[in-house]
Amino acid sequence: MDSSKRKDSSNTVFADPNSENNDEGKEDLCPGFKDADAFVKYGLGAVLSATKASASLPQTGDEYDFYRSFPGFQEFCERQGDKLLQGMSQIMQHHGCRSHMRDRNKLTGLEERFDLVVDSNDVILERVGILLDEADGVNRSQQPVLPAGFQAPKIVVSSWNRKGSGSGSRSETFRLLHAKNIVRPQLKFREKVDNSNTPFVPKIFIKPNAVKPLPSYFTNKQIRRERPEDLDVPAALADFIHQQRTQEHVEDMFSHPYQYELDHFTLTESLLSKPQPLMYKPLDETKCSFIETLEDLVALNEKLCKLSEFAVDLEHHSYRSFLGLTCLMQISTRDEDFIIDTIELRGELYILNEAFTDPAIVKIFHGADSDMEWLQRDLGLYVVNLFDTHQASRALNLARHSLDHLLKHYCTVESDKRYQLADWRIRPLPEEMVQYARSDTHFLPYIYDCVREQLLDFNHGQPGLLQCVWNKSKDISLKKYMKPIFTEESYLELQRKQKRSFNTQQLTAFRLLFAWRDKLARQEDESTGFVLPTHMMNKISEEMPKEPQGIIACCNPVPPLVRQQVNELHLLVQQAREMPLLKAEIAAQKKKGLTPIKKADVTLFGPHDTSRVSESDLHNCSTDEMPIKQGMLFAEDEPKMDVDEENTSGLVAKAKITQFEEPETQNDPESLPVGQMKARRIIESFENPFRMYLPSNNVHISKNAKFDPSSKIFEISKRWKLQSIEQQQKELDAKKKAKEEKKELSKKVADERKKAKQSYQESLQNVPTVREQAAESVKPGTKRERVASDVGESTPKPSKKLLKSAEKPEKTEPPPPEPFKPFDYRKSDLKVFAGNKPTDNTQFDPNRQSNDFRKKKKPKGQKSNSGGGKSMSYMAGKSDRGFKHNWPKR
Ligand code: AMP
Ligand code: MN
Ligand code: ZN
Repeated sequence: MDSSKRKDSSNTVFADPNSENNDEGKEDLCPGFKDADAFVKYGLGAVLSATKASASLPQTGDEYDFYRSFPGFQEFCERQGDKLLQGMSQIMQHHGCRSHMRDRNKLTGLEERFDLVVDSNDVILERVGILLDEADGVNRSQQPVLPAGFQAPKIVVSSWNRKGSGSGSRSETFRLLHAKNIVRPQLKFREKVDNSNTPFVPKIFIKPNAVKPLPSYFTNKQIRRERPEDLDVPAALADFIHQQRTQEHVEDMFSHPYQYELDHFTLTESLLSKPQPLMYKPLDETKCSFIETLEDLVALNEKLCKLSEFAVDLEHHSYRSFLGLTCLMQISTRDEDFIIDTIELRGELYILNEAFTDPAIVKIFHGADSDMEWLQRDLGLYVVNLFDTHQASRALNLARHSLDHLLKHYCTVESDKRYQLADWRIRPLPEEMVQYARSDTHFLPYIYDCVREQLLDFNHGQPGLLQCVWNKSKDISLKKYMKPIFTEESYLELQRKQKRSFNTQQLTAFRLLFAWRDKLARQEDESTGFVLPTHMMNKISEEMPKEPQGIIACCNPVPPLVRQQVNELHLLVQQAREMPLLKAEIAAQKKKGLTPIKKADVTLFGPHDTSRVSESDLHNCSTDEMPIKQGMLFAEDEPKMDVDEENTSGLVAKAKITQFEEPETQNDPESLPVGQMKARRIIESFENPFRMYLPSNNVHISKNAKFDPSSKIFEISKRWKLQSIEQQQKELDAKKKAKEEKKELSKKVADERKKAKQSYQESLQNVPTVREQAAESVKPGTKRERVASDVGESTPKPSKKLLKSAEKPEKTEPPPPEPFKPFDYRKSDLKVFAGNKPTDNTQFDPNRQSNDFRKKKKPKGQKSNSGGGKSMSYMAGKSDRGFKHNWPKR
C-alpha cells in the first residue's frame, strides 16, 4: 500500500462523524471487496473451510502413522507443512515478530514454535486492540488509569459504526456497544451489592400469592437488617453473633420462597387444550413504553395482573461487576411492549411478584435458566407458572432451539444478534438497542401459541408432550440462585477444567493468584475476568516471572488492577517459587532445558515427605552428570546434550520427534516410533502417589532439626499436627451435628406446620396488598422509600383464582406475637475465639447455601442443563467475563 492510499483508507475508517459522505473509498479499504463486511465474511469463510479441512486430516496416532507410510502422503504433508510455515512466517514478519518458523536449526522443536506463534498472536491482538481503541476514540497512550466510574460515557461515531451505508445521515448512527467509561450503576444502588463470601439469601420480604407464608426470617426486618458489621463490636465477634442469631433460620434462608406453591401448582384445563394462535401485531403498530419510574411500574403491574399471559426477557451485564447486573427487563403483552430499566428500579421491581407469582398468569420466557437466577439475585422476583419456549422447541425436536430460529420458523422474522453482547448498562439506551431488546419478547406470545398447538398435534391431541414442557419449565422456575463461594479448593476446579499440567510451584502460583483475584474482584465489585483473565493467570503461573516487569509482560493488555498491584503479585509469585519441587518435576524442567527454579532457604522437608527434594540434593544426585543449560528456550543453537546417555536416560528424554520433524530422523533405526516414545514419556513422568508415605532414604533430616523450634522442619511438622487434629475434630463435629439435626428436624417440621397455618389465617385479616403498599409509597414526596418493607409479617391476600387450585389450610388460633429477643451472649461458646472448635458445631459454614448445595459442588459453568445441544458455551476468550453460563442460542 503506498502512502497516499493508506491515508485514504485511514480517512475512511476514522471518518469525521459530521462528514456526510464517508462511503467513498470503501473499495480502497479492502481491494476486491464491496466493503469491509464482505471482506470479513470472505475471511471467515476461508477460516471455516480450513478448519473443516484440518479436522478431516488423518488423526495423530495409528491413523496418521499408517498414511505416513505412503511416500506420496509423506511428500504431500511436507509440502503443505512448508507452505503453512512459510505463510505463518510471512504474517509474523509483517508484524515485526520473530519468525524463523521454518528454520529448523534455530529452534529445538514444537514447543518453541508454539511459543513463537503465541507471542506473535499476542502482538497482533494487542495491535487490533489499539486500533479498536483508536476507532473508539480512546488514545491509549493518553489514557490515565482513572478510578472506575468517574468518567462520563463517551460516544464516538465513525464510519464503521454508522448503520447502513446508503443514507449516511446522522440519525442512522448508533453508539458503540463496547462502552469503556460508563458510570458504574452500582454507585446508585440503594442497597449495596453483597459480594461477601457468604451464601446468597433471598431478597424477598413480602410474598404475594402465598399459600405457605413467608418464614419469619424474611419478614422480621430486625433480624434481617442486622448486619454483622453494624454491631459495635470487633469484626470476629460481630460475625459470630450474627451467625448465632441466624442459625435457627438456616433452613428458611436457603430454601426457594415459592417451593411450596410451585410443588402444588396444577395446570388448568385451558393450558393443556389446543389454542387458536393469535397473530402478533407488527412492531411499528405496537406501543412501546420505557418504564423508569415507580408510578409507571405500579401501573404496569396493574395491567399485567389482568392478563392471562405475557412474555419476559432480561438483559444482563457481567464484565464490570462481581456477581453480574440485570440491566433491562422486557415485557410483551399481546398488545404492548415494555422496556423496564432494572438499574433505575432495582429496589422496586419486587412489586411485579404479584403478577409473576400469580399461578393464573402464564409467564413466557425463552431459555429462562439464567433469567430465573438474575431475577432472584437482583430483583427478588420469582416465577410461578412459567412456559419456556426453549423447552418447547426441544420437545418438538426443531432443527435448532435458539430464539433466532423460532423467530425465523414461526414469524419469518430475521433477527439481528448484534446487540446480544452489548454493554446493557449504557444510559440513555440507544434506540437501536431498545428495538433489539423489545424484539426479544414481542413475538413470544404468538410463538407460545404456535408451539402449544404443535405439541398437541405432534402427540395426536394428547397432552403428554405439552405437559412435559410445562414440567420442565416448572423445574427451571424452581432454580435457586447460588452465589459463587470461594473455598480452598476453588482454584483446583478451574485448574482441572483447563487440563493444564502445572508443577508444584506453578500450581502454588495459580492458587495464590486465584485467591488474590477472587478477593480483589469481590472488593472492587469487578468480574474475576476483569481483574485478571484466566489466560493471563495461566501465563503468570507458568512463567513465574522473577521481576514485577515480567508479570506485566505476561499480560497483554495489562489489566488496571494488575498494574496497580503488581508488587503484591510479585510477592505471591516469589512465595510460589519457594515451594519445593517434586523430583519428577525437576527432571521435567531439565528436559525442557530450564534451570529448576532456585530456592535458597528451604533445604529440609516434612518428616513424611521424601518426594520433595531440595536443590542441594539435586546437586548431589544428578547435577554432576547433567549440566543445566540456562535459557535455552530461545537459544540460537540446537542445545547439545553432551551427557552420558546411559546415566540419564531415565531422567531425560531428548525430544527426538516433533510434529515438524524431518522424515529422515524418523527413519533413524535408533529412534522409537511415536507411540512408544509417548508411552515412555508418560511413564517417566509418573510418580508413585504414595511415595510421601514411604520411608526416607535419600533425604537426611537431622533429629535435632525435628525438635528445634527454630527450624523449618519443626514448624512444618507442628503445622501438620495441628491440621490433622483440626481435621479429626471437624469430622467428629460433623457426625454429632448430623445426629442432632435429625432429631431436631422431626420436631421442627411439626412446629412449622402449626405455625404456617396460624400465620396464614392472620394474613387473611386485613393486610394491605402489594398494590396498596406501592400506591402508598408513591403518594408522599419520599418516592423511593421502601414502605412495604415495614409491613412486618404480612402476606398479601391470596387471589381467589389461586385458592381454587391450592390446598386450603385449616383454621387455627393466631400465634402469640414473637417480639425480637436480643441475643444472649452467655449462651455462645466463646471458646471458638481461643482457637477451639465449638462443641456444638452449628457454626456458619460459608459453603452452605442450601441442603443441596453440598451435593452440587459443581462449578457454575457446569450447571446441569436439561439437555445437550441447547447451549452455547462462552468462547475461550470470553469465558473470563464474569461467570460462566450456558447461553441459549439466539
Ligand atoms: P438473551 O436472553 O439472549 O437476551 O440474553 C440475555 C443476556 O445473556 C444478554 O444480555 C447477555 O448478557 C447474556 N448472553 C446471552 N448470550 C450470550 C453469549 N453467547 N455469551 C455471553 N453472554 C451472553
Ligand atoms: Mn433471555
Ligand atoms: Zn434478550
